[in-house]
Amino acid sequence: MTHALIVIDVQNDFCPGGALAVPGGDEIVAGVNAMMPDFDAVILTQDWHPAGHFSFASSHDGKVPYDLVDMPYGPQVLWPDHCIQGTTGAAFHADLRTDADLIIRKGFRNDIDSYSAFFENDHKTPTGLEGYLRTRGISRLTMVGLATDFCVHYSAVDAAKLGFEVTVRLDACRAIDLDGSLDAALAAMKSAGVTLV
Ligand SMILES: [Zn+2]
Repeated sequence: MTHALIVIDVQNDFCPGGALAVPGGDEIVAGVNAMMPDFDAVILTQDWHPAGHFSFASSHDGKVPYDLVDMPYGPQVLWPDHCIQGTTGAAFHADLRTDADLIIRKGFRNDIDSYSAFFENDHKTPTGLEGYLRTRGISRLTMVGLATDFCVHYSAVDAAKLGFEVTVRLDACRAIDLDGSLDAALAAMKSAGVTLV
């Protein structure tokens, strides 16, 4: 079996000082770098929004960050402007090793967000990552990164549903934890068959 490390969204805007900082987000970088040589493939994901993306509260009159809006695909949390294409905030943390096999970008369509590395938030539109992994013969995935309760959570659950054997290393993840979202994410990952370490 071929085993890949998937590093979710270790970008400046998700680290302390960034626009959507995850507490302690930068603490995982050294550990993630140290894990990379143990895998057959390393894949980085990068949240990559156009300016004015609909998932930003600033794109909706009268809304503030963390409000919810209804989208055709269900409720969507509104975020501070973050990870705008080509900005310093969208760049990987300066200490993260970026000599990966693949960098996959997500959230680049203006009218749909993408937490998962596999599908956009309609749970239908693929990012192409599944095909990449299958054609390389990769069947085991270990996931790390930011944030545990959003992009790591949705990526892990989608991967498990697609039949990959998935482990999430919680020591190499950090959470936003919005209204109990971390507990809900841990329960959802467990019930999807994801191994939490
Ligand atoms: Zn985003």
